[in-house]
Amino acid sequence: QKYTEQDIRQMVQDNQVEFLRLMFTDINGIIKNVEVPIDQLDKVLANKVTLDGSSIDGFVRIEESDMLLYPDLNTWLIFPWGSEHGKVARLICDIHMADGTEFAGDPRNNLRRIVREMQDAGFTSFNIGPEPEFFLFKMDDKGQPTLNLNDNGGYFDFEPVDLGENCRRDIVLELEKMGFEVEASHHEVAPGQHEIDFKYADAIEAADNIQTFKVVVKTVARKHGLHATFMPKPLEGINGSGMHVNMSLFKNKDNVFYDQNTKNGLSQTSMYFLAGLLDHAIGMTAINNPTVNSYKRLVPGFEAPVYVAWSGKNRSPLIRVPSARGAGTRLEMRSVDPTANPYLTIAAILHSGLEGIKAAQLPVAPVNRNIYTMDETERHQNKIYDLPATLHNAIQALKQDDVVRKSMGEHLYKSFIDSRELEWAAYCQTVSQWERDQYLKRF
Ligand code: GLN
Ligand code: MG
Ligand code: MG
Ligand code: MG
Repeated sequence: QKYTEQDIRQMVQDNQVEFLRLMFTDINGIIKNVEVPIDQLDKVLANKVTLDGSSIDGFVRIEESDMLLYPDLNTWLIFPWGSEHGKVARLICDIHMADGTEFAGDPRNNLRRIVREMQDAGFTSFNIGPEPEFFLFKMDDKGQPTLNLNDNGGYFDFEPVDLGENCRRDIVLELEKMGFEVEASHHEVAPGQHEIDFKYADAIEAADNIQTFKVVVKTVARKHGLHATFMPKPLEGINGSGMHVNMSLFKNKDNVFYDQNTKNGLSQTSMYFLAGLLDHAIGMTAINNPTVNSYKRLVPGFEAPVYVAWSGKNRSPLIRVPSARGAGTRLEMRSVDPTANPYLTIAAILHSGLEGIKAAQLPVAPVNRNIYTMDETERHQNKIYDLPATLHNAIQALKQDDVVRKSMGEHLYKSFIDSRELEWAAYCQTVSQWERDQYLKRF
């Protein structure tokens, strides 16, 4: 425990905090918050702030809608940009039922359940280092986002200082004021596209950080007259935005993915974990890529994975083993995009990996050549299968995968399937400009 109640009260006083934002994440990964004035602090600390769960997507039915916000004191953080009415701090909360029990439909509670499972299996932390990518678009004079990018930069470009570079630097500064350790920040391949990588953290903290990160990016961008979006594929013909997930499993101070006695430095545990990930990669795609638009990114030619394969050399596969060894030994899952609910994604990844360790099976051989030059027969001979190509296929695959289902628990599983099926059905009702361009004259 980092902070006690007393610490919180002290920090409120010392920093003249006037408002508290109580944050949580709904099933679709959307950050929700209840803002209370600081005179409600006692109530907040006594876990007595209520929430009408029936108004939140995927939570509960009307008749059981009274829920409580249990703040996690360790998530205390003061937003550096304060309003004219005083400083604003946030606490990330768990959702509990009126009787005080943990609410199973809260993705953060669910991740804690999977973390307990990890601890029962003898491990102490699951470190996650995310690489979120995003686009910056100009806004019009009404403050609405346009599709105009603000630069023509490219990967690691040393652009003359422009709006985007300034904005990104400002984002990094704000993050650092909030305690983030930013490890890298660079222009991405596409114009207007950026990436900011921050230091790994244990499962729940990492998911909290990802959610906080998105709020900061959007808030700072707006101050620069820009709209930041984590939509996976806002523009066709150029790269989309992913959120690579780097992971390693620790037993106290030891990274159990590392073994100095093997030829490649990778432990048997890491191979079992990897096998688990590969086995459930298709089943967890709906979680890692939950929107219709996610699948516009998972196409050949834009550095996003399309097939289930792994490699220690090649960058194109779903799972890559970066070259670092020792404490930095890790697996990188490259399919995840930033629309994923990070609590659900990390739970699915961790649970699948732990199942892999239990099953103790080695993964298929790594693929060190370009998968995109193989035809389907050759891919299947090498046991390389396709990731689902649409949200619909991904939902069907999730329904076939009991392990991934268990990583969510029944409540979340049901509401997640409902919510994704609704989105798919709504999309199927639409007729796009592409279709009119293709068919209106031709038929
Ligand atoms: N933008 C790419 C993706 O969609 C990743 C590019 C990179 O980080 N090398 O995953
Ligand atoms: Mg990167
Ligand atoms: Mg990148
Ligand atoms: Mg990467």
